[in-house]
Amino acid sequence: MVSHRSTIFETKAVVIRHMPLGEADRLVTFFSEKLGKVRAIARGVRRYKSKMSGHLDTLNLVTISVGKGKGIDVITDVETLDDYSKIKGDLKNISLATYLSELVESVSIEDSSNEELFNIFVSTLSKLPDLDTYDEVLRYFEIKLLEYSGFAPDLNNCLECFEILPPSDHYFSIDRGGLICFSCGRSFENSKLPIKKNTIKLFRYFQKNSEEDSLSLTAPKINVNELGYILNQYIKHVIGKDMKSTKFLDLILETGGAFNKRN
Ligand SMILES: [Zn+2]
Repeated sequence: MVSHRSTIFETKAVVIRHMPLGEADRLVTFFSEKLGKVRAIARGVRRYKSKMSGHLDTLNLVTISVGKGKGIDVITDVETLDDYSKIKGDLKNISLATYLSELVESVSIEDSSNEELFNIFVSTLSKLPDLDTYDEVLRYFEIKLLEYSGFAPDLNNCLECFEILPPSDHYFSIDRGGLICFSCGRSFENSKLPIKKNTIKLFRYFQKNSEEDSLSLTAPKINVNELGYILNQYIKHVIGKDMKSTKFLDLILETGGAFNKRN
């Protein structure tokens, strides 16, 4: 991650959210390729004749030019590259895209670029409308999000005794972000979740392999679901809050509460 600022910069970005400001302005939050998360003012966009306003819809992929104003950045130009109309025409896709946006916004630091995260965010958004099942795509995205934001869990050694983990069922420590071996786990008091041998294998495979290889794997549902539950508990811990979008996502995807309670 490289932090930098310039007087005017142009970058690809996804509009994450916006809120009204003053009489005619909006404060826009976007996640950009070159500068990570940015908040900037769009002047006059709530006026009838504003050329910018349509380009700044939530979940638009845009090219944006931003200049540094007095204290806060100001959007000087914006052009839509993709308005993701297929996502916006479907409630399930909207809720999935909102979840991805909330994740990206939560782990990102303002004005700190994270191109790998930007690239997987955009590629995952682009494939949403054509998916038949979502679980593997979401799990892969969550694992890469953790990796690209510096929270990749250690899956090779026990965090307590440092021994290499034998192939077996173990525990996942939510607090410490990694595995605790089965024997240490029995006396380990802090928050831990049991994790099956094959779920650990799946977790490692997604961590080490390309998106294409990971998504072509057919893994048993029981392991995909367990991985989903553990990842979501760990992500909640990392970002320090419940995700607003997951309650709705549970409802829309009919997961039986995969995000918020154990199946
Ligand atoms: Zn151990």
